[in-house]
Amino acid sequence: MENQYFHSVILKEDRCIGCTNCLKACPTEAIRVRDGKARIIGERCIDCGECIRLCPNKAKSAVTDSLDIIKRFKYTIAIPSMVLYGQFAGNVGINEMLTAIKRIGFDEVYEAALGIDIISNVISRHILKKPDIRKPLINATCPAILRLIQVRFPELIPNIIDIETPMEITARLAKQEAVRKTGLPMEEIGVIFISPCTARMTSIRNPLGIERSYMDGVVSMKTIYGEILRNLNNGPTENLVRGTKDALLWPIIGGQSVSLGIENYLAVDGIHEVIKVLEEIEMEKLEDLEFFEGMACIGGCVGGPLTLENPFIARSRIRSLAKGLPGNQPTDEAVAHQIRMYEDGFIRLTEKIEPKEITRLDEDIAKSIKKMEMIKEMMKYLPGIDCGVCGAPTCRAFAEDIVKGENQKAICIVKTMENLKNKKNAGNGKEGQNVNQGRE
Ligand code: SF4
Ligand code: SF4
Repeated sequence: MENQYFHSVILKEDRCIGCTNCLKACPTEAIRVRDGKARIIGERCIDCGECIRLCPNKAKSAVTDSLDIIKRFKYTIAIPSMVLYGQFAGNVGINEMLTAIKRIGFDEVYEAALGIDIISNVISRHILKKPDIRKPLINATCPAILRLIQVRFPELIPNIIDIETPMEITARLAKQEAVRKTGLPMEEIGVIFISPCTARMTSIRNPLGIERSYMDGVVSMKTIYGEILRNLNNGPTENLVRGTKDALLWPIIGGQSVSLGIENYLAVDGIHEVIKVLEEIEMEKLEDLEFFEGMACIGGCVGGPLTLENPFIARSRIRSLAKGLPGNQPTDEAVAHQIRMYEDGFIRLTEKIEPKEITRLDEDIAKSIKKMEMIKEMMKYLPGIDCGVCGAPTCRAFAEDIVKGENQKAICIVKTMENLKNKKNAGNGKEGQNVNQGRE
């Protein structure tokens, strides 16, 4: 099953020069450089897109749908991430952008804000008040962080809020409304997300926490940008804004915590910083924390790998557009309805998120312990400088690959040089312990 797992981040091998730039940036040690080319270990990759950002040769890219996906359905609905609002210079209004999306060929456009306002109300007025919840609550709306917790911090899975993402909720509500409006069957209605994020495509093809996604495709923000630009100011503008000021700020780091009205929160952006804080939470060093908002990209979704604009400029534009919108002030009746949707399982995660143990050395516990001992032994003789020259991101990963039989040809160049030097100095060939085990 694992082999069939879809990954949006892929390597274009012909472009890779084996420079190892991506090797150390990968937060889950999913990259190895072997025979002069990078390789992605599928079971470790969380599709965060860090390697896309860092490759100087554009050898890593993201698989998304082309705009032709519109033709596959009788009725199509676009859901743009609100990050889109930060991509256009020159005071372009939200309604102008949404109308331009419709002109491209979509029948309807829904802001993801619809789902955000619902989530925000249910978390702040219901979930946070439950006496038995495990804190800090983690709102894993960032699909890369959700996968990161699954592979590196499985003990924190119970802290994840069991509510669907805003995109999923919006997609589901939009699809149901379209069925009512058009009379078409669900499968002839396509919901397409306009995404700043590489991990979103994976979350649609391999959903976590839900049985299946209500989204039918993902178009990269980079792909659709030119088409939107061409269709701006091309006729009358429709009034399509549905979101609130609070919802608009969700894709910006800190936006979620502020809109939830939580005082004791921690909002962290950038996957490596998120890892440091999750380690602290795992070690129970942040006991008083109520809410953790972690986003893999710098600045939040505004820094996604599929965006065009500088995240700081995009953030400033979104903030200024948000000023013109009303705040999220739902009626008690609306909130009661939304809480019922959650309690009835309509917007709640229905599938268990299982840990994905990438660190397990062997299915057999006894063999796993033996392999652990072998790694410990090897670590005594490896230089421990994590230089990456061997093609593994750390000395430990190098040892693990050998012990797991995944790279029998691996050689530690540093140790080889040291051994040669020792040999030369000793003159009589009496060398020290050799970690390369006869591979030199
Ligand atoms: S950064 Fe990684 S993928 Fe890009 S050329 Fe270097 S080794 Fe290859
Ligand atoms: S997408 Fe992220 S997890 Fe996957 S190989 Fe690239 S850096 Fe590693």
